[in-house]
Amino acid sequence: MTQKQTLSFQAEVAQLLHLVTHSLYSNKEIFLRELISNASDACDKLRFEALNQAALYEDAPNLEVRVSFDKEARTLTIADNGIGLSAQEAIDNLGTIAKSGTREFMGRLSGDQKADAQLIGQFGVGFYSGFIVADKISVESRRAGLPPEQGVRWTSGGAGDFEVEEVTRPQRGTRVTLHLREDAGEYLNTWKLKSVISKYSDHISLPILMRKEEWKEGEDNKGGEMVLADEWETVNQASALWSRAKKDISLEQYQEFYKQISHDTEPPLTWSHNRVEGSTEYTQLLYIPSHAPFDLWNRDKAAGVKLYVKRVFIMDDAEALLPVYLRFVKGVIDSADLPLNVSRELLQESRDVRAIREGSTKRVLAMLEDLAKLEKDDAASGEDKGKYAMFYSEFGPVLKEGLGEDFGNHERLAKLLRFASTASDATSVSLADYKARMKEGQDAIYYITADSLLAAKNSPQLEVFRKKGIEVLLMTDRVDEWALNYLQDFDGTPMQSVARGAVDLGKLQDESEKKAAEEAAEAFKPVLEKLKQALKDKAEDVRVTTRLVDSPACLVVQDAGMSMQLARMLKQAGQKVPQVKPVLEVNADHALVKKLEGSDRFDDLAHILFDQALLAEGGLPEDPAAYVRRVNSLLA
Ligand code: ADP
Repeated sequence: MTQKQTLSFQAEVAQLLHLVTHSLYSNKEIFLRELISNASDACDKLRFEALNQAALYEDAPNLEVRVSFDKEARTLTIADNGIGLSAQEAIDNLGTIAKSGTREFMGRLSGDQKADAQLIGQFGVGFYSGFIVADKISVESRRAGLPPEQGVRWTSGGAGDFEVEEVTRPQRGTRVTLHLREDAGEYLNTWKLKSVISKYSDHISLPILMRKEEWKEGEDNKGGEMVLADEWETVNQASALWSRAKKDISLEQYQEFYKQISHDTEPPLTWSHNRVEGSTEYTQLLYIPSHAPFDLWNRDKAAGVKLYVKRVFIMDDAEALLPVYLRFVKGVIDSADLPLNVSRELLQESRDVRAIREGSTKRVLAMLEDLAKLEKDDAASGEDKGKYAMFYSEFGPVLKEGLGEDFGNHERLAKLLRFASTASDATSVSLADYKARMKEGQDAIYYITADSLLAAKNSPQLEVFRKKGIEVLLMTDRVDEWALNYLQDFDGTPMQSVARGAVDLGKLQDESEKKAAEEAAEAFKPVLEKLKQALKDKAEDVRVTTRLVDSPACLVVQDAGMSMQLARMLKQAGQKVPQVKPVLEVNADHALVKKLEGSDRFDDLAHILFDQALLAEGGLPEDPAAYVRRVNSLLA
């Protein structure tokens, strides 16, 4: 490239820019954090590449960021001597958004400024946040290793397009100059800049330098003023936060560090900072967020935990450091033992990494157990007591994935589960709570899965349990069906779906009840045979049940069969599912069922019975029009 070029921003960038400048202006100062964070990343990248190519350091081995301003020109400059950008990289990285999920993200914006600002914060506006305070930004850069003539200048007014041209630039790295807007003059002030830097960037391990100020007497003793000196001074602590002793880190610093690495504007629920010494030595600083990010369900998204080796950033790698079901955890792991030039492949195989992964998983579970303990701790504040419920409402379904993913921690995970039940609308019943409330003679933990709490609560399958005062867990998360495959029992007590197999309340049913049921079944046999015949295409079997009290009929699946709900879910997701033929169970005491015998509309009644049972559990009759016709003909 020799000539100046004018290029357009990718449509999403233009849209994002508009949003950034319109919804983040109430929290202007974050632009400095974002730009310093980019500078720090660029230095991390240089350090990493230079592990194999020391020449990249050229003659400036000390990595640093310099922040300076020019009052007259109204410019603020953030300069680093990190990896820098080639002309093509400037075009690619500063003109498009490479992140996946951008479109989805845009779709989520509501137009409500406050809510959007938070989403944008999570997404990470990065470089573009400069336009909150600047009406023009110019970036000069040269990539480490390229000759001085291959520098680049990128400029934009933050509207639809930007310009790039080649320039000569002896220094490696990037210099971002912000031409401040009318209302952003406060950033032309050493004191203000220092206070923003110490608030957001104190923990950056790189030194951030600013020009010293000195007092200059006015002429003829007519007052004086502070002026910028030629000397530079470091204005942050410049030591990685996690490498400091716990006692030297304030609550605010921990929270600020979290916000920095997570792009979250809300404080975390809890965190844990430890130096682990053993077969492998490492430091972990792990946070549990207070709310889910917009892309929680994207199992491939970038990891929340960053790997450092002796304070050099190595990579984000989700699966190597924590199992996928803990993908909501944010933080840093810094190993003292791994080689600095560790590759992704090596990472997967390393015993040290495996030990770190196990240790970190246990640490996260311990944090959750601590939160759960607070729930029942009378000495805990109201806020602390509510933390586990807050965690669970945001991340409970993700945690359940662990049942199928992490067999080593199965028991601990099972104890962390919470459900709604027929005794509690809130999702607050633990399996241990349930067990403690079990009736004498009850030998299973009963549950039902449904699409919603209402559907679960009103399910006919629950009738006999309600009558007998037996608690049933109500499960309404999409993952429940799947997760429960991996939870056959809890603490020696089997888990039993109330919509699966014949109902067997065992010792909970007395002899006279059993006998009455058997007699009813016997007397009902001829009708049953006719029903089976009429419904042979729809039902696997028809039988008399004692589980119903008020409803005439319900559907259940065979013990080993796929549940109706799971089959529906898979179908909705566009998957092929084998046809599930349920069992129709009828309540021989119900008036409608009694009517069957001797009815001249037996066939219609039989089909209505079946279709209604399907409707009651949230399904749809296979032929809705036929159902309506049958009901109408009865009504008429
Ligand atoms: P993010 O940092 O989240 O990727 P940004 O919009 O902040 O998004 O930056 C986009 C890209 O521009 C970065 O990924 C990086 O490649 C490049 N970049 C930004 N600032 C710098 C810098 N100071 N030095 C080198 N590259 C940079």
